[in-house]
Amino acid sequence: MTTYDPKATTPTMVRAPVGATVTEVDWVDGHTSVLPNALLRGYCPCAGCQGHSGEIKFVPGNNAEITALEEVGAYALQFTWGDGHGSGIYSFRYLRRLGELAAEDAAARPAIPRGAT
Ligand SMILES: [Zn+2]
Repeated sequence: MTTYDPKATTPTMVRAPVGATVTEVDWVDGHTSVLPNALLRGYCPCAGCQGHSGEIKFVPGNNAEITALEEVGAYALQFTWGDGHGSGIYSFRYLRRLGELAAEDAAARPAIPRGAT
C-alpha cells in the first residue's frame, strides 16, 4: 500500500466547475491532481458499486456529472452524481491515488486494493 506524506493528502483547493469533465485538487505539497469525473465515478468506493469485499474495480458507464460536492469530516469528499447516486466517500488519500492512476495511463483502469480508500 502506498503511504503518503501528510502534505500529499491535505487539499488546499478543489475545483469542480459545473459542466466540467474533470475535477482538480491542489495539495499542500504543491501537486495538482487532475481527476476525470468519469474516472471518479467509475471508482466509486461505496458498497453499492463495489460490494463488501475484494478490490475496488472500475465500473464504466454510469452518469459522471457532479451535481453536489461536500467535505466529509476533515478527511474525505463526497460527490453526488447526476443520477442521484451519492454514497461514495472518497478519502483524500484515495483521491491522491486516483490522480496518480489518471496521470500514469489514461486508458488503464486497474483494480485498486481496498486499503487505498
Ligand atoms: Zn457508489
